[in-house]
Amino acid sequence: MAQHAHAKKPNYRNIVLAGVIIVLIIVMAVLLMSSCGKKKPEPVPAGSEASRVSDNGSVYGSEEESSSEQSSEESSSGSSESSESSSSSSSKSESSSSSSSSSSGDTPTGKYAAMPETPYSYDTTGKSVRNAFDANGEVDLLFPINSTYYITRNFKVAKLEKVDGDYKMDYRAAPHCKEMLAAMRTKLNSDIRAFSTYRSYEYQEGNFQRKVNKLINKGYSKTDAYNTAATIVAIPGTSEHQLGLAIDVYLDSLYNKYGELNEHFEETKEYKWLQEHAWEYGFILSYPKDKIKDTGIIYEPWHYRYVGVENAKAIRDSGMLLVQWLESQNIVYVYNGK
Ligand SMILES: [Zn+2]
Repeated sequence: MAQHAHAKKPNYRNIVLAGVIIVLIIVMAVLLMSSCGKKKPEPVPAGSEASRVSDNGSVYGSEEESSSEQSSEESSSGSSESSESSSSSSSKSESSSSSSSSSSGDTPTGKYAAMPETPYSYDTTGKSVRNAFDANGEVDLLFPINSTYYITRNFKVAKLEKVDGDYKMDYRAAPHCKEMLAAMRTKLNSDIRAFSTYRSYEYQEGNFQRKVNKLINKGYSKTDAYNTAATIVAIPGTSEHQLGLAIDVYLDSLYNKYGELNEHFEETKEYKWLQEHAWEYGFILSYPKDKIKDTGIIYEPWHYRYVGVENAKAIRDSGMLLVQWLESQNIVYVYNGK
């Protein structure tokens, strides 16, 4: 009996020891898994710092964009713009290749998915209804572009014209833009230049897709990556640059100093002049400092949208955004394009 008890005791000790080891292994595994989970970044909620977005993809107060990436995006923007619209066949092949890359994998949800490729329609009862396009397929100069009034992949600027080097804009805006740049260079002895003008749907899509891929590489799920990218880079179809009616003007000296377009532009004589005179050339500031909540886009003292001289004056005098001014005029647009 005593021997039996003696023989049993070490067995019991071994079992307890093995149990402790198993528990330890489980605890370590759980700790390891939870620390891995922490590395996965959370989607950026709306209204946070990183959701204050530049339409060119730069972000204030966010580590998302490094200065080197920003500068490479800028330079690729320039080369893309110069090659864009050179021939319709090249843009067709660009379009098909980029659409296949963006449609692969899971279907995105959220803001991105809420923008179907088919044009929208609204209740126009009691409204002053305008067509987005005229008989020649030219977009209306007051057509706002955002997540409500977006354009489709089929949109083509009717006619582009060079405004500064290879940078091109809609031919209706181009002469006014050239005059405005010339006036600043003469009157202010400025070396201001275009940093971004017309962007194709494919170019904007490439920007967006690069951001999505970068987030996926960081560990985001596809859906989270799409939704988060939409808070950092303008969704294809929602950038004024795609209409050929917007220009980013900037100074090389300032860009070289910071490696990005940033708020310091507002300290320049060029910005002060633009505040006074841009409307005289038909341009309005699209993303003012006091309208960040309304635009959902960061303050962009460098980004100007052409609307025509009379409209620019009326909108500037109203202190409203283009889209707010249209609402005050009871104007809605119907998308009569492809
Ligand atoms: Zn811009």
